[in-house]
Amino acid sequence: MKITDIRATTVTVPLQAPLRHANGCHWGRFVRTVVEVETDEGLIGLGEMGGGGESAEAAFRAMKSYLVGHDPARLEELRFLIANPTASLYNNRTQILAALEFACLDLLGQKWGVPVSEILGGRLRDRVSFASYLFFRYPNPKDGSGEVRTIEQLVAQARDLKERYGFSSHKLKGGVFRPEYELQCYRALAAALDGDRFRFDPNGVWSTETSIWFGQQIEDIRNDYLEDPVFGLAGMRRVREKVRMPLATNTVVVNFEQLAANVLDTAVDVILLDTTFWGGIRQCVKAAGVCEAFQLGVAVHSSGELGIQLATMLHLGAVIPNLSFAADAHYHQLTDDIIEGGMFKYEGGSIAVPDRARSRRET
Ligand SMILES: [Mg+2]
Repeated sequence: MKITDIRATTVTVPLQAPLRHANGCHWGRFVRTVVEVETDEGLIGLGEMGGGGESAEAAFRAMKSYLVGHDPARLEELRFLIANPTASLYNNRTQILAALEFACLDLLGQKWGVPVSEILGGRLRDRVSFASYLFFRYPNPKDGSGEVRTIEQLVAQARDLKERYGFSSHKLKGGVFRPEYELQCYRALAAALDGDRFRFDPNGVWSTETSIWFGQQIEDIRNDYLEDPVFGLAGMRRVREKVRMPLATNTVVVNFEQLAANVLDTAVDVILLDTTFWGGIRQCVKAAGVCEAFQLGVAVHSSGELGIQLATMLHLGAVIPNLSFAADAHYHQLTDDIIEGGMFKYEGGSIAVPDRARSRRET
């Protein structure tokens, strides 16, 4: 099988309400680039990339000259074609590589008649558990609904998501208000949903000292982990010395050099594997193997996804033996999806791993 064409299409899907975070806001929609890799056998594989909320069509068009004629089964060769160390000094194409890898794996699954998880070593579980992803939200500008600002609104959001989807682990995205207020919010959540598990992520926006103070205030809660309270391995290492709970990251350990540094002088306990940030599902599987050897925790991270990327997260979650926690997903904050058959369904806090190819809905 040989690649004959690469196409990219920008899509937008509305969110229920704008999602606030430390660096501003996911406004009323997710903007994603859907990638189609076509082959000489007529099969079309699908990939997806976020790219910070901007269209990445031009970036994928530029990849065509590298990849026409390439066998999509040669995934390791693909990595060196697109993101070899020297080329990456000039053009960091990690996220582009990830979307192309998703599409190539999709092609192989279609050609061989198996789900991607079977190509990755075979699934260990048929469903992947997710945490609720709770955000402070601005009201929906169209109808004023969906605001989350007060403690009451936040607890109501958590109860509603638990009721509808069955979550028993909850993640609060912080870094929006003063840490003292966010501490009240987090403690109120833990009290309202006693018996569940919790995690907090202010996107690395605090000082080391604030991180230590906050961490010490929540030591009595059933925390999965405290995620990226401060930005940087050195700051995380200092927090870890003084706070009695696991620390997690999706920001300062996102490649193998950083993972090696974290093994040699540990700053983070739980590595949140993101199929986009790491450059593909296979990179995440490899990283999970390193984490397994050194007994670091792993979980599946969400950098914002539609159904194509969610499928990559499900296949990853299905094959990692040392998956230690419920996965993250923004998915339940969306109002719709672009894939055939409508949105993936949560049941009992989990989503079934796909067992057949789904295609992009024709619009
Ligand atoms: Mg995070």
